[in-house]
Amino acid sequence: MANGFQLIDTHCHLNFQAYTKDVDAVIRRALDQKISLIIPATELKSSKRAVEIARKYEAGVYAAVGLHPVHLQDSEFEEEGKKIKMKGERFDYDSYQRLAQSGKVVAIGEIGLDYHYLPIGQTGLPEDKTKVRQNQQLQQFTFLQQLELANDIGKPAIIHCRDAHDDVLKLIKDFYSRKPSRSGALKGVMHCFSGDWELAWQYFDLGFLISFTGLITFNNSWDDLLRKVPLNKIMIETDSPFMAPATQRGKRNEPSYVVEVAKKIAELKNITVESVAKATTQNAQALFGIK
Ligand SMILES: [Zn+2]
Repeated sequence: MANGFQLIDTHCHLNFQAYTKDVDAVIRRALDQKISLIIPATELKSSKRAVEIARKYEAGVYAAVGLHPVHLQDSEFEEEGKKIKMKGERFDYDSYQRLAQSGKVVAIGEIGLDYHYLPIGQTGLPEDKTKVRQNQQLQQFTFLQQLELANDIGKPAIIHCRDAHDDVLKLIKDFYSRKPSRSGALKGVMHCFSGDWELAWQYFDLGFLISFTGLITFNNSWDDLLRKVPLNKIMIETDSPFMAPATQRGKRNEPSYVVEVAKKIAELKNITVESVAKATTQNAQALFGIK
């Protein structure tokens, strides 16, 4: 059933293996409900895939390209019951810049810092401490290179941050201070925002927005923040295939469920879902330059 209003899922990984079999059906379900979507990437291969998917659609499907901080190290994870091993990648500006030229690419992302998944068990031994420090430095360097790319091509950044807000804020501020002539030109969003009111305002002061996933439908940690936060500062996302909303717990998430995030915000703010839809859609359209 179609919603009477338009929504934008600003963050869904339809380029992941979870959707290899039915990505078009998943996108169709979203578009039929007037839900547009942005597919962010995590490394070069998923960046290419995001662009490839978006190109198949005339409207409503967009991509972001970028190197996620956890992909700087070798990684092993499970997807669809299969073990996947990936080699750590080093950021190559030219490859990403070339991909970003596609008219379907609306942002650089997801990029940022992740101090939660560090390369080794943190035993506290000196050699472990050194490895952690080196990985953090590499993350910071790679993050800056990608802010540079976003700034060079005039597109916003989609930022992932876990246990590293002090450094993310510091790097963005440093970045602005080194670019006085273009200060403020770089915009972006803190995706799946997990901080408090004070942290939110530190990002707003830098011209950034924050965005919320289905996490808010089953975890009340952000209720107070959501009641107070101005509507012109927020966007909504699913972070599919993760973070399925309360009504779909345990299932694979998908963009058509983004309406649950809008409903929860409406309930907390005691306003209509339409007004949440309207505001978050306008914010996303303005930030990403889409219709
Ligand atoms: Zn993501």
